[in-house]
Amino acid sequence: FKVPKAINEPVKGYAPDSPEKEAVLSAYKKMWNAKIDVPLYIGKEEIRTGNTQNITPPHDHKHIVGTYHLAEKKHVESAISNALESRQAWVNMAWEQRAAIFLKAAELIAGPYRARINAATMIGQSKNIHQAEIDASCELIDFLRFNVEFMTQIYADQPTSDSSIWNRLEYRPLEGFIYAITPFNFTAIAANLPASAAMMGNVVVWKPSDSQVFSAKIIIEVFKEAGLPDGVINVVFGDAAMITDTILASRDFAGLHFTGSTHVFKDLWAKIGANIHHYKTYPRIVGETGGKDFIMVHPSANVKQAVTGMVRGAFEFQGQKCSAASRVYVPKSLWPAIKDQLTTDIKSLKMGSPEDFGNFITAVIHEGSFDKLAGYIDRAKNDADAEIIIGGNYDKSIGYFIEPTVILTTNPKYVTMKTELFGPVLTIYIYEDAHWAETLKLIDETSDYALTGAIFSQDRYAIEEATVKLQNASGNLYINDKPTGAVVGQQPFGGARASGTNDKAGSVLNLLRWVSPRTIKEVF
Ligand code: GLU
Repeated sequence: FKVPKAINEPVKGYAPDSPEKEAVLSAYKKMWNAKIDVPLYIGKEEIRTGNTQNITPPHDHKHIVGTYHLAEKKHVESAISNALESRQAWVNMAWEQRAAIFLKAAELIAGPYRARINAATMIGQSKNIHQAEIDASCELIDFLRFNVEFMTQIYADQPTSDSSIWNRLEYRPLEGFIYAITPFNFTAIAANLPASAAMMGNVVVWKPSDSQVFSAKIIIEVFKEAGLPDGVINVVFGDAAMITDTILASRDFAGLHFTGSTHVFKDLWAKIGANIHHYKTYPRIVGETGGKDFIMVHPSANVKQAVTGMVRGAFEFQGQKCSAASRVYVPKSLWPAIKDQLTTDIKSLKMGSPEDFGNFITAVIHEGSFDKLAGYIDRAKNDADAEIIIGGNYDKSIGYFIEPTVILTTNPKYVTMKTELFGPVLTIYIYEDAHWAETLKLIDETSDYALTGAIFSQDRYAIEEATVKLQNASGNLYINDKPTGAVVGQQPFGGARASGTNDKAGSVLNLLRWVSPRTIKEVF
């Protein structure tokens, strides 16, 4: 078995009358009325607890598209024991076989499941088709293919030996099970967090977001169809606090693979710390959390390029990316041109259901998110140091729709320059051209998070200066591009400070967290 060289999955275009457009629309229509019932997946069982919640699309929240079953404590305990019972056989399996299972899963998504997983992501998470394709198909496939390549590199890396001594590293999985907690905003991340740990021989209890149930069902079914043995990844939905407390109470808890909000991650870390004497091993803690991602525009910037970066960076997928651009620093000299271009570009964005492929903006994920965003928009309407210059309307009568909104502030520490909103709201601060260096300092000082950032400039010295001065203000820095859309294998993704442990998803660094190597020396 020779692992094929990983290549990024080409992104399909979904042009009018294209076969891929027909396929995804037909899957969408079928799913819309199918009343899909999503069980827990524990060991070889699909468990219907009878305690269910409705699944409703964010863009049409009165329409029930399905139901999912909520776990009780006993189901979580059963997920843990099933994972542990499956562990030894999975550990013993040759890594090439594990690799083959996940490569097969990638091929299933690339082919027969592509339309379905894209449609599920469009319905359940309100992604437009292009965002769904990039996420649920391409990035998910890329994670699987590239991680297999990274695991090959890991297993190949061996210490030096000579004719009388044989040294080797045995890349054991962690001793116990991994808890994966995944977010609603990327189907690819939801698949990758349990899969990357499992690839390295670990067993997993996976809790998907309540807002990503539809695509989670397809992911686990694809893994099983590809040959993943029962019990290696167990799926539980339900009350996060109960599930977490049950899992963290297990002596065999060996690691957390998390993407979600900063405060949840910190609470988890504190709970793990409080339980530390109880565990068999020090648990690995890997988390990608929030962001408050900047765009810094230099006076030499190309205005059109910078505005495209702002619009795509801030408003693709309604700004619901940890990486989304949400605070922009514009030099006074460029502001008139930037404002005109920004207004024109944002006015051209269409908003509505993802079923209409012309819609760029759809709904935000749920009512809680809608209300929070509407609250910040109202606040900006009333605050003396802020004004809404574009958008500012919202309506939740059918779906949770928030217009792409731009706030202009005279206060670089204004609340929406600091707080992660996770929605289509961009805040702009205008700086004096002569204060470029001070503004770089200000950006660094106000970066409690440090996930992504972008610099727009045609001046190489300015690019160098910003790159150095903002060294710790982001984990991913983009020069003359939007701060979103990291491609697996090209831009390993992750940040530090309040943004996470920076274990770089889509790189060998992440997979290394899921092994506990044993060094063996033998003398002849
Ligand atoms: N990897 C994504 C990007 O580069 C963001 C992931 C996230 O929002 O958690 O845009």
